[in-house]
Amino acid sequence: MPEFELIDRYFKSRARSRPDVLLGIGDDCAVLQPPAGMQLAVTMDTLVAGVHFPLNTSAQDIGYKSLAVNLSDLAAMGAQPAWAMLALTLPDENETWVDAFMQGFDELARQYQVQLMGGDTTRGPLSITIQVTGFVEPERVLRRDAAKMGDRIYISGTLGDAALGLKKCLQKIPPQFSLPYCVQRLNRPIPRLELGRALLDVSHCAIDVSDGLLADLGHIIKASHCAARIELVRVPLSDDLKKYYGSNPDWPAIIAGGDDYELCFTVAPENEKCVQAISRELNLALTCVGDVVAGEGIHCVDQHNKEIVFTQCGYNHFANPAS
Ligand code: ADP
Ligand code: MG
Repeated sequence: MPEFELIDRYFKSRARSRPDVLLGIGDDCAVLQPPAGMQLAVTMDTLVAGVHFPLNTSAQDIGYKSLAVNLSDLAAMGAQPAWAMLALTLPDENETWVDAFMQGFDELARQYQVQLMGGDTTRGPLSITIQVTGFVEPERVLRRDAAKMGDRIYISGTLGDAALGLKKCLQKIPPQFSLPYCVQRLNRPIPRLELGRALLDVSHCAIDVSDGLLADLGHIIKASHCAARIELVRVPLSDDLKKYYGSNPDWPAIIAGGDDYELCFTVAPENEKCVQAISRELNLALTCVGDVVAGEGIHCVDQHNKEIVFTQCGYNHFANPAS
């Protein structure tokens, strides 16, 4: 099928129609009308087969996840999603694959009224790049450099499920444990967009946990020139994860494994009541795991207040493989 037919059939036909997309797929550029007085929040993420998802991931899950990880970045800023661009590199003209990929993409796009308004289609090893744009009121955003000494550190949902799901997909878990919830968390992360918007009233500082808590909270404390104290016993774990690990949770995997896409945010103690109200309203656990303190680095302590030191600190694509 010629490239333009593929574009018409699978990308153009599926696009939502937002009134602020004046010209969508089909011309040399899209033409967009941002709402008066709003600023744009823009982000892009690439997913490479075998690096960002196991090779056995379904096309539908890849379509869903490629958009979800981008929307998660908008969530971490408190932005309202609007537009997406998709650069797709495909090894061959597999229409069935593209159709399933777009079904997954569209599930989320529909849920958040995101319009696909352009992109590029090329041939090569499977890779997906998505760029999304959202709206924010002037300077009303959740930034990494806005944590303050004395703030409490919160996490949405639970951590570690996706890392365990990944082990399952890579067949590193005995077959009697099917772990469907963890696999779902790996392949279908939920971008915490409603939470990000709600946090604008109570917080100035958030990040989405894509590379593990240690790495991502590390970005916050570095940018905010402070340190963090984390109580491991408070880190929220799902029932499935607890059941699998029993009394011996794999802490490095839980706090340094990636792909959770929960939000880590800081709040002044006087705003903690509002955090619990947001938690009830969104029916989403928001758990305090520690405090922003003076100094440097992240200090994890166990139930006896003894510091536990972790050497590995999240996924780094350019890390020296020998180190
Ligand atoms: P050009 O050669 O002028 O860059 P293309 O043939 O690459 O144009 O694309 C034609 C139209 O199809 C453009 O509007 C482009 O944004 C859109 N498009 C191409 N690939 C994709 C894709 N994977 N997803 C969404 N839109 C796409
Ligand atoms: Mg092009």
